[in-house]
Amino acid sequence: MLPVPQADTGNGKGINHMIKIYSIRVSVFSTNCYVVQNTETKEGFILDPGDYEEKILEFLREKEVKLTAIYLTHGHLDHMMAAERIKAEYKVPVYCHETELSVLADPVQNLTSRFMREGYVFTAAEGLKDGAGFTAAGVSVKLLHTPGHTPGGCCYYLPENGVLFSGDTLFYHSIGNTEFPGGSMGTLSRSIREKLYTLPEETVVYAGHGEETTIGTEKRENPFVPATEV
Ligand SMILES: [Zn+2]
Repeated sequence: MLPVPQADTGNGKGINHMIKIYSIRVSVFSTNCYVVQNTETKEGFILDPGDYEEKILEFLREKEVKLTAIYLTHGHLDHMMAAERIKAEYKVPVYCHETELSVLADPVQNLTSRFMREGYVFTAAEGLKDGAGFTAAGVSVKLLHTPGHTPGGCCYYLPENGVLFSGDTLFYHSIGNTEFPGGSMGTLSRSIREKLYTLPEETVVYAGHGEETTIGTEKRENPFVPATEV
């Protein structure tokens, strides 16, 4: 389990929804699938169920997660291959940025034609717009469209908890690959500078691969996207 971000409003009127964030390592690409659980209600949601559906389902049962939704940061296979099964099991909606719907529905863009014997498409997702704010399992979430790794790639920001799920946009000391279909280094750099580096420095970043970091750490130390353009 990862450290639990404290959610103190600081106004003395009690605390925001307490959450636990769990990371489950899935797929041959070692993707971080995250489960966010509201500790008061046991409701929870999943981000990027990339594969190993049995492992994820087992985890949800063990923690008695009342699943409310599935969110995808983007449509690459290692972030969505278990979505169909979990959606069917729990009867919950799957969301992504609206631009990514076409990536999910295209075996070339979602990379299944490259890494699997047969291509796979996922067409049951619902699209959200940039800046969309919503409540998931009692937690405030804002979608930030951060294209560059894929055209409809996005991050999910939990402002009251100081947490960002960055998918394959930003990693600890690294950034997402821009060589896949629809990728662009210029676009990715702009997304990171304008949408992510403008968040509070103490924001904890849970990335799609590898260890967590913070916005401040990456602004100071990321070798690929420095805070100011050079
Ligand atoms: Zn990816």
